[in-house]
Amino acid sequence: MVLRESLPLPAEEVALADALQRVLAEDVHADADLPPFDRAAMDGYALRAEDVALAPARLSVVGGVRAGEWPAMTVGPHQAVRIMTGAPVPGGANAVQPVETTRTLADGLVEIAGAVAPGANVAPRGCEVRRGDVVLPRGRRLDPAALAVLASVGCVRPRVGRRPRVAVLVTGDEVVDAASTPAPAQIRNSNGPAVAAQLRLAGAEVATLGLAPDRREALAAALARGFDADVLVVSGGVSAGDYDLVEPVLLEAGASFFFTRVAIKPGAPLVFGRRGATLVFGLPGNPVSAQVTSELFVRPCLLRLQGALPPLRPRATVELLAPVGNRSGRTSHAPALVRAREGRLLARPLRSLGSGDLVAHARANALVVMEAGRSHAAAGETAPALLLDSFLEDDGEPP
Ligand code: AMP
Ligand code: MG
Repeated sequence: MVLRESLPLPAEEVALADALQRVLAEDVHADADLPPFDRAAMDGYALRAEDVALAPARLSVVGGVRAGEWPAMTVGPHQAVRIMTGAPVPGGANAVQPVETTRTLADGLVEIAGAVAPGANVAPRGCEVRRGDVVLPRGRRLDPAALAVLASVGCVRPRVGRRPRVAVLVTGDEVVDAASTPAPAQIRNSNGPAVAAQLRLAGAEVATLGLAPDRREALAAALARGFDADVLVVSGGVSAGDYDLVEPVLLEAGASFFFTRVAIKPGAPLVFGRRGATLVFGLPGNPVSAQVTSELFVRPCLLRLQGALPPLRPRATVELLAPVGNRSGRTSHAPALVRAREGRLLARPLRSLGSGDLVAHARANALVVMEAGRSHAAAGETAPALLLDSFLEDDGEPP
């Protein structure tokens, strides 16, 4: 349902330097062959392979060509041209013999110590990409390697999906700003920073609307400030408590809901709806629930709004080093530390006291997924896992 409602936003042009993590709105084509000329892959001598088939062989050096220079000469029988990596191979030559297998002699001669196959150490024009080929497809999120491709085809102002503008509102009478010392019965706002950061990593432009109390009028006024955003994300106030007012207040403000619960753990009370052109998520306030539902539902929405295909993270199969239980009857997501060791993904489930345990959650780099019908997985069994961004930051510790 989330993906169905998350239609790509209009595209815009950005400078290459600002394109990191943006999503291409159209296919990018090569403006020329790559490489654009027969390119020497080594420093050495350009020659005709047939002249050195019976190496060692002596060739006369008829010139040199350096990178950035167009060769004026051609290579005839028993001739060689000194050539540098990245330089165009002169006409007539069909191979480059690396300088290490050559010896300079007197009288403009070079000795080639070994035979070389035709085509060796030459990247022929167009062997990597032909002019007009699609080098990057629409929907690709631009990473450093993709920026290299854009640069090499001269696409310095790529068209990318507009960043979604996302407003984040944190609710809860007990929640105070992290910079203040909580009074008794108060807690610091940890969801605001965590969720805003998750949304930024997913490409959003985040505006934080601050803290709203669990009172109708104040909540209504705070929510209204988010109605010109593409997406409004609200933390807290969506479960069954007497002061969980986000749903009724959104309804009064004209929102309609696609769903108001999901059968997952943590995170059951998750609300997704629309108010005018604004998509609205109501995340559960429990810190782990807020982060997990943001990861599972809001992140794909934001990537889809930018036009990314596909917006879902891959699931890996991991080997459990300890048992995982799931008596919830819902699909559960258990925090785990996954390490890649000798071709295996070993998952150590982490002790967690549940959806409030944000410190245990921060130790995890993956979520082990236990489907609703699977109540127990023993050590040694496998399970699917969502690998989080921190999975790629292995500290080298044993699993
Ligand atoms: P709620 O979903 O509003 O019922 O909140 C569920 C639990 O999450 C309660 O224990 C809240 O105190 C806690 N909580 C709600 N919002 C936040 C927040 N912004 N940061 C940290 N904990 C929160
Ligand atoms: Mg609350």
